Amino acid sequence: MSYVDEVLERVKTKNASEPEFLQAVDEVLESLRPVIEANEEKYRKEALLERLTEPDRQFKFRVPWVDDNGQVQVNTGYRVQFNNAIGPYKGGLRLHPSVNIGIIKFLGFEQIFKNSLTGLPIGGGKGGSDFDPKGKSDREVMAFCQSFMTELCKYIGADVDVPAGDIGTGAREIGYMFGQYKKIRGTYEGVLTGKGLSYGGSLARTEATGYGLLYMTEELLKCNNSNIAGKTIAVSGAGNVAIYAIQKAQQLGAKPVTCSDSTGWIYDPEGIDVELLKEVKEVKRARLTEYAAARPSAEYHEGRGVWSVKCDVALPCATQNELHLEDAKQLVANGCIAVCEGANMPTTEEATKYLQDNKVLFVPGKAANAGGVATSALEMSQNSERLSWSFEEVDAKLKDIMVNIYHNIDDAAKRYGQEGNYVAGANIAGFEKVADAMLAQGVC
Ligand code: NDP
Repeated sequence: MSYVDEVLERVKTKNASEPEFLQAVDEVLESLRPVIEANEEKYRKEALLERLTEPDRQFKFRVPWVDDNGQVQVNTGYRVQFNNAIGPYKGGLRLHPSVNIGIIKFLGFEQIFKNSLTGLPIGGGKGGSDFDPKGKSDREVMAFCQSFMTELCKYIGADVDVPAGDIGTGAREIGYMFGQYKKIRGTYEGVLTGKGLSYGGSLARTEATGYGLLYMTEELLKCNNSNIAGKTIAVSGAGNVAIYAIQKAQQLGAKPVTCSDSTGWIYDPEGIDVELLKEVKEVKRARLTEYAAARPSAEYHEGRGVWSVKCDVALPCATQNELHLEDAKQLVANGCIAVCEGANMPTTEEATKYLQDNKVLFVPGKAANAGGVATSALEMSQNSERLSWSFEEVDAKLKDIMVNIYHNIDDAAKRYGQEGNYVAGANIAGFEKVADAMLAQGVC
């Protein structure tokens, strides 16, 4: 049996109840086959893949807090420190009722390769809780965040593990968590990223994932004899990534016509009004029905459906496994030429394969959404220097990083005879650096 198959079997047996984690490991190891096969004996002897698929450590803890009725509530908190071969653990905190250890492990595993692709010295980690900030008062969110950080602060630090935002964790939550860390540990350090500008945050971090996604899409199209200007774009999600993807797409001359949230979606043939979307989602924290009510050109539909709209480019920016095989078929039938993932693993394995088989340019999230974590690493640099860079400076670095990632994944795919397969390219390019560092550091 090949080394990859041996390890896949072992991972399946050990983690049988974690489907998202198994999906992520399967996708990565399958595309690493040519690299592993070229070094099979060495890697097997070093148990490199066993070490790569087993987190360095994982924490699971109780998060008790008191709601506005005086009732004690209990959530579960997680932090998975997956791999620090190339730098301190880095990865977001997801607050969503669907969070469980398998989801956190899938995200932490993906984060290893994404962080490596940025070219910056950051390892992979992820955390979160099954707490749902939706519908909670500010005081309840603060109570949760303080309790969560009271435990988490034992395991993190500016040179150890630096969490960030993710679904459900925005500037408000990061602020409450930072305040609690400072209070308990008594140190003022860059232990979290995504901070407010008045206390160590970086300009352009809010925009970074969405903007970075568009810099990647622009370079992808340019290098494949096309151009972003004038393209019709379908976007899913209406959160941080989606909003700034829509904004940058418009700045580059494209027309985003859809967005969605967990209850429905918008088709706006005139192009999404990004200021209105920000008002509805960032300020009022309301449903998309409010967008439709304020915008005569927009249609609101309940449920899923953004991928049924005719588009040139699709940017899934909501959550994992939100673009299914039937959606991929519809996109191809409608003439879509490129799919770039803003969210983490939003496209199912079958849908990815269908898109690739039908010659749709497909860039996976670990490359296409790496602008967020890259800018978080720039925030860490600014905190260490005790300096703040201008918006233009950060944005220019972000653009350089995204263009470099595109060329690195393109080159890696070509080196292994898989030109145009950016999934393989991203996994290979991300893996090579981490593998080198792990082998150099001995058995640990
Ligand atoms: P937000 O919480 O800001 O927004 C998430 C959006 O997706 C919301 O519109 C939400 O709807 C929708 N959504 C969430 N869960 C579901 C679901 N189960 N079904 C349908 N829609 C859903 O998160 P972000 O924009 O920050 O993150 C989006 C994705 O991008 C995630 O996969 C995240 O891991 C990834 N990512 C984020 C980065 C960042 O910098 N923010 C960096 C890299 C990756 P509703 O409004 O109803 O809640």
